[in-house]
Amino acid sequence: MMASKEVDLDDYDIGIIGLGIAGSNLARLLLPHLKVIAIDKKDSQGNCFDAGFHKPCGGLLSKGAQKCFANQSLTLPKEILSSPQPFAINTIDLPSKVGSYIPKHYVSVERHRLDLWLKSLIPPHIEVWHNAFLRV
Ligand SMILES: Cc1cc2nc3c(=O)[nH]c(=O)nc-3n(C[C@H](O)[C@H](O)[C@H](O)COP(=O)(O)OP(=O)(O)OC[C@H]3O[C@@H](n4cnc5c(N)ncnc54)[C@H](O)[C@@H]3O)c2cc1C
Repeated sequence: MMASKEVDLDDYDIGIIGLGIAGSNLARLLLPHLKVIAIDKKDSQGNCFDAGFHKPCGGLLSKGAQKCFANQSLTLPKEILSSPQPFAINTIDLPSKVGSYIPKHYVSVERHRLDLWLKSLIPPHIEVWHNAFLRV
């Protein structure tokens, strides 16, 4: 049986529920004068007590997403890159059955590893609860 511990979110200035791309990035950017708690289902290795939990994501980083990382001086570690790296998408117009390749400047990443990497960048002044979930 899993040990359980509870916390009152009213004791914090900010509560972040879920450390995917959005939550982890927010947690990394918040300043130390705020009292912040961040709660995530996954542990720091990416395991999850919720066996039904899967992330539906193709792991393609758009140009805009790449720009966001660059603007924050973040470069992707090579461990999170996956292969093959697509640079064009084969599309088919169904009525005419005409196919064409459209250039797309995506970077392909292993999405789970991307989440864990971003989670690892959260600074120590943020109180992170792994293996935890919000109960309302
Ligand atoms: C089929 C599919 C394919 C996609 N492909 C792409 C793609 O190729 N490229 C792209 O850029 N986007 C893609 N997306 C969109 C992308 O997955 C989302 O935009 C992105 O995951 C949103 O990030 P997030 O941080 O808001 O949430 P999430 O990535 O969903 O992260 C939320 C995290 O919160 C945690 N969590 C959830 N509930 C709780 C709870 N109650 N308590 C505690 N923790 C909790 C979990 O650990 C979870 O990882 C795709 C989406 C789908 C459905």
